[in-house]
Amino acid sequence: MDVSDLIDPLNEAQREAVGAPLGHALVLAGAGSGKTRVLTHRAAWLVRVHDASPWSILAVTFTNKAAAEMRGRIGELLGVAGGGMWVGTFHGIAHRLLRLHHDEAGLPRGFQILDSEDQRRLVKRVMRDLQIDDKRYPVRQLQGFINGRKDEGLRPDALDRSDPYAGRMVEVYEAYEAASRAAGVVDFAELLLRCCEMLSAHPDLLGHYRRRFRHVLIDEFQDTNGIQYQWLRLLATDETDTFVVGDDDQSIYGWRGARVENLKHYQRDYPDAVVYRLERNYRSTQTILGAANALIANNADRLGKELWTDGAKGEPIALYAAFNEQDEARFVVERIKQMCESEGYARRDFAILYRSNAQSRTFEEALIGRGTPYRVYGGLRFFERAEIKDALAYLRLLTNRHDDASLERVINTPARGIGAKTVENIRLAARDQGRSLWDAARAMVDGRGLSGRAARAVSGFLELIETLADQTHDQALPDQVDTVLATSGLRGALEQEGSDRARDRLENLDELVSAARTYEQEGERPEDEDMDLLTAFLAHAALEAGEGQGDAWDDCVQLMTLHSAKGLEFPVVFLAGLEEGLFPHRMSVDEPGRLEEERRLAYVGVTRARERLFVTHAERRRLHGRDEYGIASRFVSELPGELVDEVRARFSVSRPSLAVGAGTRVAEPAGDGAFPLGQRVSHQKFGEGTVLGYEGSGAGARVQVNFDDAGTKWLVAAYANLQAC
Ligand code: ATP
Ligand code: MG
Repeated sequence: MDVSDLIDPLNEAQREAVGAPLGHALVLAGAGSGKTRVLTHRAAWLVRVHDASPWSILAVTFTNKAAAEMRGRIGELLGVAGGGMWVGTFHGIAHRLLRLHHDEAGLPRGFQILDSEDQRRLVKRVMRDLQIDDKRYPVRQLQGFINGRKDEGLRPDALDRSDPYAGRMVEVYEAYEAASRAAGVVDFAELLLRCCEMLSAHPDLLGHYRRRFRHVLIDEFQDTNGIQYQWLRLLATDETDTFVVGDDDQSIYGWRGARVENLKHYQRDYPDAVVYRLERNYRSTQTILGAANALIANNADRLGKELWTDGAKGEPIALYAAFNEQDEARFVVERIKQMCESEGYARRDFAILYRSNAQSRTFEEALIGRGTPYRVYGGLRFFERAEIKDALAYLRLLTNRHDDASLERVINTPARGIGAKTVENIRLAARDQGRSLWDAARAMVDGRGLSGRAARAVSGFLELIETLADQTHDQALPDQVDTVLATSGLRGALEQEGSDRARDRLENLDELVSAARTYEQEGERPEDEDMDLLTAFLAHAALEAGEGQGDAWDDCVQLMTLHSAKGLEFPVVFLAGLEEGLFPHRMSVDEPGRLEEERRLAYVGVTRARERLFVTHAERRRLHGRDEYGIASRFVSELPGELVDEVRARFSVSRPSLAVGAGTRVAEPAGDGAFPLGQRVSHQKFGEGTVLGYEGSGAGARVQVNFDDAGTKWLVAAYANLQAC
């Protein structure tokens, strides 16, 4: 049998791992060493060398995007689409199992998935019912508490209530569970927990899947959480062939319950596991890799790995100190343009990575200003937009009338005269009678529990849903969506509004019809033949909303948070906003464990770059509506000086001398009270320094000062409050 195409593109260490004997194997290796490549080749190897049926392979990765890429790659290596092979995310696979066995899982056939916003709304409602003050118990905190416990596999009855404060939280968790059950909805964390419980409670089912999935492969293992590990333990017995791949230096989801210790637990629980290490990096230049190695060496808690490459030395890392976030964005966008024009790069070769979603807006504005196409991964995505969620809520009600979150969302959207008071009355009745909002509303309409006008309006809404159900009964999926948009009045209301924003929203609604059409034609068919396409589409929408748009990589600059860049690579990377307080995040600087996680995130960022890496920080930044003055992140100073080149600001002069010679563009002092160039001044925070230049005029005028200790900075002249000395 010729498997040279599987083996040739691999080095010796990689080959050993791909050809590992059946049993248990752990590939522990640094960024860009080919872990994902090895895992993909292993899946194909199992089919071609060990005659494994694709049906017997379960491959798990971290994002839908990575799963789609892996599926395609395995298909190529097998020469056919890997029919029957399960490749997906933990959530996606758990969801699939729950759909197939919803009876065993105790879920209604058309159960729907609550996204994070729906979940928050439900937690809030439960708290209102329990009369819990959301000032003492912030809703987000409770939401985090519930998800955290589920990620650990803990139900309310397993929790300690002896402390009154914690006891209240457990009470909310309990009531939230009852409400989700009644509505037939599950949140993300529930998918996995419920799946584990279902398998544990049904040994026949568990036995079936243990026999079926002889081969379980998991990528990015360092970021698995407690319940994901339990799930693996359930499915993978001693007979199973497991292949687990990870890098402790890239564990970045500790804040969401991921446990890097799972790498150690795996070795404890599967003591025969053979460990493979890959040390050669194929992704980055020597310079970039050297910087990454030096950075991560500052972490104490490591399993310890070194990476090397015999690739090119490459360009130095470029460091740019911007005076504010606009200047930072301008620099990045200009560089991209310039490199596209004169160095032959395409737009898709660039990624702008940042710590927090809120940083994207300035880059987006600068890119729009320059007419540069871009795509943001993460942030507010299509399926999370308000108008799309409204439309989906109608569709969800068609599949399940007891979906309270959806009913509450659209009972008066578009406005049909059902006031908050009426909704509150329905809610109270539902709570007292222990039934869904739908049933309570119906009973109130029939039993004259509402005033004449309210009763007419509510009854109109109930009829509307029933009419929609009739109209869409035999329709194809895209027509169902279209009918809902027309009959519900969602489209009409926006048409009437007529504003630009409304037009945008109408376009989005049209896009939803197209999305339904694409799904009908190309979407992954549910394995359960009886499951209707609408239910499958709604689940798809909920899972997709969890991450980026994920369609073909057109020629766009890519913007994303560092967290969503995991596992990806780009020829040119801009790491933006490297300031203390922003990155490392201010919440983490006082806790060594969290600081190390931030550093791993920086390591993930640096190791995404193949050829060029730019690092930027701003001396002043307006974020969340506040001005912050930041000093460069400690991570910048942890990059070896000899690998870094400082890019000079447009107006800068060389420091520390005052040689303002030919060619340097230094404006004259702007306005009264300005100091002459060369004047010694002092600043409250930065200490003493020398004025080097000015830029701009009026309120926006900036002064450049070379501070003795803090280095050169641009400050807004009007706020700098400099004193002569
Ligand atoms: P990360 O830790 O970031 O997830 P990884 O270890 O999964 O990285 P891959 O993404 O599999 O690494 O590989 C990194 C890059 O190196 C890819 O572009 C891959 O195609 C390439 N590569 C891996 N192994 C080889 C090899 N033996 N020969 C040539 N290129 C390789
Ligand atoms: Mg990888």
